Amino acid sequence: MLCVARIFGLWPLISACLPVLAAQDLAQDSPWKVPQVTLIAKGTEAETPCWILTAEETGPTVLIVGGMHGNEPSGAAVAEQITSWSIGRGQLIVVPRANVLALEAEQRRTPGKLGDVGDLNRQFPRDGEPSAGIATALWGLLEIHDPDWVIDLHEGFDFHRTNPKSVGSSIIHCADARAEALALKLIAAVDATIEEPGQRFDRLRTPVAGSLARAAWEKEGVRSMIFETTTKSHVLSHRVRQHRLLMHTFLSELGMQPSPAATVIGPGIAPNQIRVAVFDGSGTGKGAASTMRSVLEGQTGCIVRLIGSPDVRAGVLSQFDIVVHPGGSGSAQAKALGVEGRAQEVAFVRAGGGYLGVCAGAYLASCNYDWSLGVLDAQVIDRKHWRRGVGGVDVEWTPLGKRTLAGGSSAQEVQLFEIQYANGPIFLPGEVEGIPDFQALLVYRGEIAKNGAPKGVMPSTAAVIRSSFGQGRAMAFSPHPEKTDGLHALLHNSLLWLAGDGQ
Ligand SMILES: [Zn+2]
Repeated sequence: MLCVARIFGLWPLISACLPVLAAQDLAQDSPWKVPQVTLIAKGTEAETPCWILTAEETGPTVLIVGGMHGNEPSGAAVAEQITSWSIGRGQLIVVPRANVLALEAEQRRTPGKLGDVGDLNRQFPRDGEPSAGIATALWGLLEIHDPDWVIDLHEGFDFHRTNPKSVGSSIIHCADARAEALALKLIAAVDATIEEPGQRFDRLRTPVAGSLARAAWEKEGVRSMIFETTTKSHVLSHRVRQHRLLMHTFLSELGMQPSPAATVIGPGIAPNQIRVAVFDGSGTGKGAASTMRSVLEGQTGCIVRLIGSPDVRAGVLSQFDIVVHPGGSGSAQAKALGVEGRAQEVAFVRAGGGYLGVCAGAYLASCNYDWSLGVLDAQVIDRKHWRRGVGGVDVEWTPLGKRTLAGGSSAQEVQLFEIQYANGPIFLPGEVEGIPDFQALLVYRGEIAKNGAPKGVMPSTAAVIRSSFGQGRAMAFSPHPEKTDGLHALLHNSLLWLAGDGQ
């Protein structure tokens, strides 16, 4: 389990509370050096970090750019993950969030600019110099570092294979034989993970005029490729996994010995951060994972990544301190994980990890469905009327809840308050042998009983519960603090406890 001492920078002094896989453990085996971070377009509203990862052995230099278009979040997410990778040879220059203004607005173009002027990936030299702010800074990186390759990470709106109007699920490479040969290898690697023929990758030649990839090759002779995933039909963690596999295969082909393709958080992450995985596979509600991520990222010293069920089955939980299952459908999340993924989750908590479940994630943590994880000794009652309704409901602190969860929230000074509820589980003690009884932190006082649900079931049952499980800890929220103004601190405080703070 992560010890809270890590959060306060005492980590090197504490050896008794090693997390499942500490950054130090990874770093010992790899020739990884601490990455340098600089800001490009510094002092402007477009200012953004640039990471420089340098291996001890010399090798190729690769410039990796994500987030050129603000509505294509996968590139930014995977480039961010790569900043935590180790490499055995060469150098990576990584700009995860090239167009911060467009990413914040979640739109393709820079806010306030129309047409090509607002499209960052049309600002690179066709003739002369780049025409606008951040493009000038990115072009400057090319001139300073003189990379062997430029990889630009994008997403299309549909699968090119079935809809040629979109470049989704393709690799677009510069007009060069080496680039073409590599693109074929990368496509073979990613296609091996895709069952649906219409969703397989196509190879396209020559990036569009004005793009970084086109200009790099034509103006500077730097080989270039654009990796395009597809936003349609796939959750973000799925697209990130494809981008990550392409990047891993590409860097491996160059002999740069990158971290394994399943590395979501590698050795480059500061050891004094709580590493949180938010599940966004099938069964999570629309927008639930990204809402949860942005709420949890409000916690200082906490780093959040979205993961899907194939990631869980590939063992990525060992890179994290806490896994979070947000709202949606508990049975559908359980189905997506499968028997193997559920076993991985249980083993993760038993070995010292933290589990946080909200609504559907709370159902998943319970002990009395055949798909339950059983990390909490809690049975869900009146299962027949799970659609009991949505709305505000009154809850009351227990002394333990108030002491451990209330700090910094709008409910800090009150005993009774309202929280958003959406068909969450009604818990009673599970009476399962061999796991500790849960402790209640919040208790329902009000009630919602629609769609045929009988009255009187919900009041006095526990709305938020927690307990240890093996070496780890688990907590479940039946209601939705992340959807209630003023109550986000309840989740922040729960992360501290799940990461090992206090008893
Ligand atoms: Zn794009």
